[in-house]
Amino acid sequence: MLPGKIVCVGRNYRDHAKELGNDVPKEPLIFLKPPSSIVPNGEPIVLPRASSRVEFEGEIGVVIGTQLKNASEVDAERAIRGIVALNDVTARDLQRSDGQWTRAKGFDTFCPLGTMGKRPTSLDDLTVITRVNGVEKQRGRAEDMVFSIPFVLSYISRVMTLEPGDLIATGTPAGVAPLAPGDIVEIEIPGISRVSNGVVAAD
Ligand code: ZN
Repeated sequence: MLPGKIVCVGRNYRDHAKELGNDVPKEPLIFLKPPSSIVPNGEPIVLPRASSRVEFEGEIGVVIGTQLKNASEVDAERAIRGIVALNDVTARDLQRSDGQWTRAKGFDTFCPLGTMGKRPTSLDDLTVITRVNGVEKQRGRAEDMVFSIPFVLSYISRVMTLEPGDLIATGTPAGVAPLAPGDIVEIEIPGISRVSNGVVAAD
């Protein structure tokens, strides 16, 4: 079943904010990705004609288990159902030219999603790795996030109620780069979840 919503955090690792020439935000920068962008392991990412620069963003995805509204960080952490490998595929050129990110982040197939695994006892132990054609491009640890996972969940829950099944994409580490037809991009959260997808041009 698709999540009711996907809430994403931008610029949540210092090195990634820097590589795109952005300041580290003073509070979480959140945006939405449509559930219709989800694609499972093994199905292709389709590069839309409207963009000439589509990039991968390997991320730690958090699945909500119980409703959160104005939640404390402690309650937010308890509400986590599981962890998924997620690729926040982004049309970088459209993200810049549009000024807001709905189109750049919202194309069909722009959210490859692995199957959910168990959360570790300490969320700080989570690592996300991105490989393109078998070569490592990104590696980030949850402990290096600007805003921790419980902080982010609590923050979002003060804006919008999080419902069971909702998905949170917690930001990408440094190393983003463009994808080309024929590439295979894999996001792995070791021991927990992985998602691997080929890349094709639109017909
Ligand atoms: Zn992202």
